[in-house]
Amino acid sequence: YKISMSQMCVLEVLGLGQYGVVHKVFHRPTRVIMALKEIRLELNKRALQQIIMELDVLHKARSPYIVDFYGAFFIESCVYYSMEFMECGSLDRLYPAGIPEAVLGKITLSVVKGLQFLKDKLNIIHRDVKPTNVLVNKKGEVKLCDFGVSGELNQSLAKTHVGCQSYMAPERIIGTAGPEGYTIQSDVWSLGLTIIEAATGRFPYENIGFTNVFDQINAIVNGDPPKLPSSRYSEAACDFVNCCLNKDSNSRPNYQKLLEHPWLVEAEASTVDMEDWASRAHALFLARKGPSSSPYVPHTSTRR
Ligand code: ATP
Ligand code: MG
Repeated sequence: YKISMSQMCVLEVLGLGQYGVVHKVFHRPTRVIMALKEIRLELNKRALQQIIMELDVLHKARSPYIVDFYGAFFIESCVYYSMEFMECGSLDRLYPAGIPEAVLGKITLSVVKGLQFLKDKLNIIHRDVKPTNVLVNKKGEVKLCDFGVSGELNQSLAKTHVGCQSYMAPERIIGTAGPEGYTIQSDVWSLGLTIIEAATGRFPYENIGFTNVFDQINAIVNGDPPKLPSSRYSEAACDFVNCCLNKDSNSRPNYQKLLEHPWLVEAEASTVDMEDWASRAHALFLARKGPSSSPYVPHTSTRR
């Protein structure tokens, strides 16, 4: 079954990333609401075909902790990737209200299970763990998206990377961990930063007072790793984050070890109304955002 742009009815803009826009769309043949992500790349047809082929593995990637993949296609030099629509959006939109520790524990549990699934079932490193890539639906389920399935896509994204907030582990920045410059442990570092950001509402390296991206890189590589505020979080939570943010990648726990950590054992056993949290946090996000502005004519709908 081939998914294509002509089957999509564009409903609204969900967000804007470095490489393009993500739209909420209605897929007419299946009558399913989807999220359609655009990735603008300067690539030849062969490379684009390679990416679409590599993304196809995702049809086998079914997990409750991974956003469902519906299909991909390209138009000109853009790759379009359709996936499960997550009603409450990404974690960065839900944390300004403050995430209670019990909810944070459940979120972390899902992220670790998602990362473990990617590693064990697909043998892939996520490479881009951060709050915007952790999505929440209206049932309160937490799922990962935007992981590095396609080698070809990873390569071209690495070449065009312009990000300034770096969730990259020190060994990735200095390129000392193996032939690829990083390992599966590098995602564990990014997980630690993601937890602190979700807990405190800001990127952990934001407030160090540096003036440019080099100072930020310097803080990551040479400074002490950030911590959860111990006044507001349990000892178990703080210890979990400290384990993730060990500057020595070999000393960071693997996913199995993380799942056995007291904080996640406790999270697994606890009952938290995630659906209620998600709907409240999302309502607050919508209230802050205000009424949506005039109908947006997306660039994608003019192309076919
Ligand atoms: P970057 O480009 O640096 O990776 P990003 O992750 O924010 O940043 P995109 O992946 O393009 O960029 O996503 C843009 C926004 O769209 C996200 O921040 C998220 O809020 C929203 N979004 C992405 N996928 C979905 C989805 N499946 N359901 C709902 N919202 C989504
Ligand atoms: Mg993303």
